[in-house]
Amino acid sequence: MRFAVRGALWLVVYLVVVVGPLLLMLAGDPPPARGFWHELSIALGFVGLSMLGLQFATTARFQPVDAPYGLDVVLKFHKEISFVAFAFLLAHPLILVPITPLGSAIYDLSLLTWTGVTGVIALGLLVVIIVTSMWTERCKLTYEWWRLTHGLLGIAVIVVSLVHIRLSGYYVDTAFRFGVWVVLMVVLVGMYAKVRLYQPLRQLRRPWAVESVEPAAQDAWELTLRAEGHDGIRFQPGQFAWVTLDTSPFAIREHPFSFSSSAEHPDRVSFTVKELGDFTTGLDRFEPGTRAYLDGPYGVFSYERNEAAGFVFIAGGIGIGPIMSMLRTLADRGDRRPMVLLFGAPTWADIALDDELDELSQRLDLTVTYVLEDPPDGWQGETGVLSPEVLDRYLPNWRGGTQYFVCGPDAMMDAVEASLLERGVLEDHINLERFDLT
Ligand SMILES: Cc1cc2nc3c(=O)[nH]c(=O)nc-3n(C[C@H](O)[C@H](O)[C@H](O)COP(=O)(O)OP(=O)(O)OC[C@H]3O[C@@H](n4cnc5c(N)ncnc54)[C@H](O)[C@@H]3O)c2cc1C
Repeated sequence: MRFAVRGALWLVVYLVVVVGPLLLMLAGDPPPARGFWHELSIALGFVGLSMLGLQFATTARFQPVDAPYGLDVVLKFHKEISFVAFAFLLAHPLILVPITPLGSAIYDLSLLTWTGVTGVIALGLLVVIIVTSMWTERCKLTYEWWRLTHGLLGIAVIVVSLVHIRLSGYYVDTAFRFGVWVVLMVVLVGMYAKVRLYQPLRQLRRPWAVESVEPAAQDAWELTLRAEGHDGIRFQPGQFAWVTLDTSPFAIREHPFSFSSSAEHPDRVSFTVKELGDFTTGLDRFEPGTRAYLDGPYGVFSYERNEAAGFVFIAGGIGIGPIMSMLRTLADRGDRRPMVLLFGAPTWADIALDDELDELSQRLDLTVTYVLEDPPDGWQGETGVLSPEVLDRYLPNWRGGTQYFVCGPDAMMDAVEASLLERGVLEDHINLERFDLT
């Protein structure tokens, strides 16, 4: 089934789960309605709760769900829809303040019922989640601690909300009606358990070991892992995996990296890693033999996804990683289609794996052009950034049927994407991989 159709189907599923439980509350013999504003407030609360539960599904690493959109789009949706859910959940008590005793409880807390208390706690926890997500660094949370607290606080909100709707008891007055919410939330929160418990358990049975960590460029490493006692991992060139090094797969210390090795060698995989923070800096501290685990493959950034008559690869800095995987695989498969690689970086020292790119341009019908912002003395090649003018000089004439793959810093990707669209490249011929999901 085409990605567009599958994408539309998942949206329908999302909407059904959002409003389905609300409709079930009205099925059978519902209690009498209490006026438009009161009922609107309750409906917003129920819809907001469904949306909160669905937040666990959007981060559950389901390849069939992520594939039509790409992980970056799914996570963007996760982030932005959380504000909509929060707005609904906040509107729920605000609407009730002028029309119910909730308003008096603001001035006299002794009037606050347990229903009100649990509602306030759930909303308070939600505020903590939003604040720590928007200002993670200011809250002095590392990425790992943020991820752990994010998930656990999310579960706490769901549990407290279930208590809240049970205590309010107006629509959730029967075992069936409460059961609908409990089952739905157990299934959705269970998706968190899939990522945090089930997948690590599977990884334990398929361990890897560090084979080598070699310098690939200035502040960048080529990390190579070999499968220990199994046949490795089947992936499409350009996809990525969550990598855990020197700790249990249950630890939250896992990092996403794109495969840079050929998909023809599933038992020996490499990643090209840029030093950025505490995990990636000094990666050679991981000695050969260090235990590793992989969760994957994930992602849709691969030439295998679409028919193509030729390829244009555009890499910025460490964005060469997944492109290298495609080039290595295409070479191993003896592919003869025409290819162009435009590789931009600040300096020559930031260009990774240039020797191998020279070799690949002999094995493939590949033209490589480097674009340096700050070139060394005597540099004869292109200088500056991957500007529209540079693209005009190097984009091939054989445009029809060409697939474009762009990976690099966000600003470069946005500029290149805009330039390609301006030059008449169809949107569904442009494939983007973003390393920054925050
Ligand atoms: C799909 C995908 C593919 C990627 N492929 C590559 C690659 O091939 N090569 C490469 O060098 N980098 C890649 N990255 C980026 C890489 O995951 C981060 O640079 C790395 O995790 C930073 O870890 P750190 O602890 O050294 O840095 P930190 O200083 O801790 O983090 C710097 C930033 O990296 C991000 N980050 C940190 N930890 C994680 C995590 N566990 N999960 C997601 N993001 C995180 C956050 O935005 C954080 O603010 C990829 C990212 C994604 C999402």
